[in-house]
Amino acid sequence: MYQCDGCGAAIPRKALRYQVSIDVRAAYDTLEVSLWDLVRDHRREMEELVAQMSKTDATALEEQVYKKMVLDLCPQCQRRFILSPLNFRSHDSAATPPSDIDSFLRSLGFGNAAEE
Ligand SMILES: [Zn+2]
Repeated sequence: MYQCDGCGAAIPRKALRYQVSIDVRAAYDTLEVSLWDLVRDHRREMEELVAQMSKTDATALEEQVYKKMVLDLCPQCQRRFILSPLNFRSHDSAATPPSDIDSFLRSLGFGNAAEE
């Protein structure tokens, strides 16, 4: 028995289930190394960095660079995930967007004063 990470529903062993692998990694652009970078003294910077890192929790530090997540999804949540990967769990707003501009503005907190 699995559990859907989207809606929490139980997924029986042989039922259709989807797996989402998410790799979150810090993005680095190619470094441009100048002559100044090669000749200057990096020691102080390194010492500061090491001091800063020693104060940070190891797991938190690791997660700043790389984090892998694996989600189990039921078929309904898989469809919602494909449509809206960042908001697939919010059933109301992502699945059924406001039908008119007034309710959309109200959902953002605008327009109440004009009507009342
Ligand atoms: Zn689900």
